[in-house]
Amino acid sequence: MTHIVTPIVAAKPGQLAALAKEAREGGADMVEVRLDECLDQGGDAEVLLNYISELALPVLLTCRHADEGGCWAGDPGQRRSWLQTAERAGAALIDVEAARFAELDWRPTKAQLVLSYHDFNGMPDDLEARVDAMYAAGADVAKIAVTPSDAADLAIFESLLGETEQPLIAIGMGEVGLPTRLLAGAWGAFATFGALDASRTTAAGQPTLVDLVQRYRIKHQGPETHIFGVLGNPVGHSMSPAIHNAAFAHHELDAVYVPFLAHDAKAFWHACCDWVDGLSITIPHKEALIDELDDLEPLAHSIGAINTVYRDDAGKAIGANTDADAALDCVRGAIGGAANRCVLLLGAGGVARAIAYAFHQAGSEVFIANRTHSRAEALAGEIGCRAITMDEAAELSYDVLINGTSVGMKSERSPWPVEAHRPNSLVFDTVYTPMETQLLLDAQHGGATPVCGVSMFVRQAVGQYQRWTNQPAPVPLMRRAMLEALGYEDIAETCAESGSGSGSTTRLWQAD
Ligand code: NAP
Repeated sequence: MTHIVTPIVAAKPGQLAALAKEAREGGADMVEVRLDECLDQGGDAEVLLNYISELALPVLLTCRHADEGGCWAGDPGQRRSWLQTAERAGAALIDVEAARFAELDWRPTKAQLVLSYHDFNGMPDDLEARVDAMYAAGADVAKIAVTPSDAADLAIFESLLGETEQPLIAIGMGEVGLPTRLLAGAWGAFATFGALDASRTTAAGQPTLVDLVQRYRIKHQGPETHIFGVLGNPVGHSMSPAIHNAAFAHHELDAVYVPFLAHDAKAFWHACCDWVDGLSITIPHKEALIDELDDLEPLAHSIGAINTVYRDDAGKAIGANTDADAALDCVRGAIGGAANRCVLLLGAGGVARAIAYAFHQAGSEVFIANRTHSRAEALAGEIGCRAITMDEAAELSYDVLINGTSVGMKSERSPWPVEAHRPNSLVFDTVYTPMETQLLLDAQHGGATPVCGVSMFVRQAVGQYQRWTNQPAPVPLMRRAMLEALGYEDIAETCAESGSGSGSTTRLWQAD
């Protein structure tokens, strides 16, 4: 069983006790008392160490040397004396850097010995040999914390943990390495570390305790756990882990969904496809894996971009595009159908491609306008619709206006002039951060019906979930998880159940 360890730092024993209690209530099994940081905050080592037995959880005691990311660099004899006090006081584990174990000239007998190795700039080629050397030197638990440069490196952690029979902690630091922390239970790691909150992390990329316990359900993971994730760059902002993990938990599925930050999507797939059961694919990798998969669904093949990878019954990796149907469904829900509608699509990137194809196939007359007109012409030529300039677009009598650009994302800009909105039209924004974009607010003001990108995002996730699990997705719960992750806790419950919001959001939600 993988231990969840929460690092705690305080100058006073009472503060340490309060933090340990908070960690236990949050679901941690153990606290790591970072003595080096406690001293840095003005703590007295002997006073703190003699208080260990009063803490609410078993203690891993670490006095990390400055050479390996800590803040202690004193006399080895002094450190030996503190570690001996820690053992007498009841520490369950004591961590020492493998490189400084010899100079310590002592090993605990009652507490377990953790020998550790840290690399904040990269990963050495001889990790396996280093781990073997730690056990040979007498480690009860080996710990490596190194820095992967790309998601393909995750395969090294997976195989190290799979092949090592003795207790091992294998952590990839930074955002690329985050899955090593989130999949610790599935990969059989001895422990993973979770901070009390985001402001109290002790290493780069360390998740919070609440994420480990609630979102990623470390305690429910095991060797049979199915692994899914979102592959992209960036992925830190993605709502998908919140949505899919909530759905897996709801159905009590032995599955977990993590963010894979990848610069090279193909390298990731080649290195990791043996243990990845399914993927969401986002910017900029929607075309990268097309030739690497066993097959594509016909729609994905026609669009030339995928946002989903799943396994069929024979275990083959299939690419799908759930963006197209998701966008179409949003508009259909609001105006009853897309046939014979005049659709003005802003943008010619990845999402615009899926939308243009879907509406063209559904019988709409699609006009594409894009900042870079040549891209609009190329896309329109491929699909068989028309490219127009922004000036021409302003004259168009459209029924549906769709924003497929990223304009409006985390900004108050709109891709469409406020005065150009047409009453009784439908305006659909694929952007969902914020949910009420300037485009939608202007549309509402101008007498149009606004439909927000949350609807599409939930629908494309539903299409993925059904392919991965072969069961209906819990749509209200997924919508609620997304709204909560976006910070709309106030309306999450109402919107989740009814698909319609309250107050100013009412009209934005009527497409659901
Ligand atoms: P992309 O492939 O990078 O395309 C970006 C598009 O936005 C291009 O057409 C680009 O025009 C245009 N653009 C960017 N900055 C602009 C600016 N300052 N002024 C005018 N046009 C600008 O990205 P994508 O994958 O299509 O994603 C686009 C948006 O869709 C994102 O905001 C994303 O969040 C959203 N999306 C939503 C969902 C959902 O489910 N709701 C799903 C996928 C994507 P140029 O060609 O001139 O560069």
